[in-house]
Amino acid sequence: MVRIERAYVIALTIIAITITLTQLISQRHIRLNRLDSTIVNISGRQRMLSQKIAKSAIQLVTATDSVRFINSQSELRKAVNLWAQSHRALQNGDDEMGISSVNNSDEILGHFEQIRPAFESIHKNAVILAEKSTFQTINQPSWQSSLQHILDHENDFLTIMDAITFQYDEEAQQRVTSLSRLEFGLYMVAIILLILEAIFIFRPALRLLKESTDKLIVSERNLEQARVEKQYTKQLETKNQELRQFVYITSHDLIEPLNTIISFSKILARNSSPMNELQQKSVDVINKSAFRMKDFMLSILEFSRIGREKTRTEVDLIEVIEKLKTDLHSLIEEKQASIQFVGESLKFGAYENDLTKLLQNLIVNGIKYGKKELKPEIILDAKEQKEVYLVSVKDNGIGIPEKYFERIFEVFQRLHTRDQYEGTGIGLAHCKKIVELHDGDIWVESEEGVGSTFYFTISKQPL
Ligand code: ADP
Repeated sequence: MVRIERAYVIALTIIAITITLTQLISQRHIRLNRLDSTIVNISGRQRMLSQKIAKSAIQLVTATDSVRFINSQSELRKAVNLWAQSHRALQNGDDEMGISSVNNSDEILGHFEQIRPAFESIHKNAVILAEKSTFQTINQPSWQSSLQHILDHENDFLTIMDAITFQYDEEAQQRVTSLSRLEFGLYMVAIILLILEAIFIFRPALRLLKESTDKLIVSERNLEQARVEKQYTKQLETKNQELRQFVYITSHDLIEPLNTIISFSKILARNSSPMNELQQKSVDVINKSAFRMKDFMLSILEFSRIGREKTRTEVDLIEVIEKLKTDLHSLIEEKQASIQFVGESLKFGAYENDLTKLLQNLIVNGIKYGKKELKPEIILDAKEQKEVYLVSVKDNGIGIPEKYFERIFEVFQRLHTRDQYEGTGIGLAHCKKIVELHDGDIWVESEEGVGSTFYFTISKQPL
């Protein structure tokens, strides 16, 4: 854009200079034209004046009465004065006659040199006749001789004056032609520059302008979309909050009546007189169902609690795993499971309680879904990557069919009946939610009958 601006300013300056030059030349053209035509006029008038001098001189010398003589003498005087003034003006310039300056060519100067004897003779004799002659002495031979001199040089004067006028005219024409050419050339330069400016400056500038406008429209649209999305996200957050609250309150409130049912069924089992088989079975079913329901409620309650931690803290992964091993001690003992960590020793920002719960779910699942004939072996791995920390939990259990790789992360999705494996179908949904809270991903790789590896990432974030 800056380059175009600079080019635009330069082009505009050149055009302005060209047009100003053209204007100046045009004005000079007009001035010269006016001067040239004045000179050509005066030069042409010299012919007429010299003829008038000759005519007045003849009339003066042949005057038959004093009145005619005086009139002729006055005519002669006027004619000779104007003629002589014009002659000088043509050579030296004369403001009064409209010739401010003269710039005669060598050719014209040569002609003036040629014409000088004729001019001087006519002038001298015409002045003598105009100033000195009187009607009484008009018959003297000297006046006749003056007239003869005038007439003798008249022809020479006319011929050379014609040549001068012709030369003036020709030179004026040449000047007009060359100035017109220059003027035309400059106009053409200005026009070409304007066209070039249009092609190389305005067109790219317009294209840039159009591109910027398009970008602006897109970014305004995005902005508007972002604004709407933000509003929508806020609404969703509020709704989510309300739902979480609802789930929490409902599951929490339902646990109480369940506890009551459990207590009563225990009292019933203990205190009643010996029950028949059907009664005994019924109490067992009530008891088991109530316990299952309680488990269910507790997992929902826990699910609704995810994300309560407000800030990430620095978590030492190995420490978390060690703590979990202690917490899960009885399960590990019971199932004779082994838990190993083979990864890098990492410390990173995370929601510690949620991360612990996530690892616990994966480890417990790894043990729970172990093969009957094998002792469960859980191998944990962790490595730092460019933008995330990658953690994996591998087991040697029953494995998962590929078609369920996605589904198992949904709430209440189970691949087994409760008789086969205890559970609520909420654990992996729980894990997914925790991972999302850490801006990460969770996925599984598994082979049926061989084992499964659950992977999850935790995004790196400054604390
Ligand atoms: P739950 O274990 O309570 O049923 P989860 O959400 O933890 O619920 O798991 C969903 C389902 O995914 C389980 O029912 C089980 O079929 C399958 N699953 C989870 N972890 C494993 C695992 N390590 N090996 C094999 N199957 C698993």
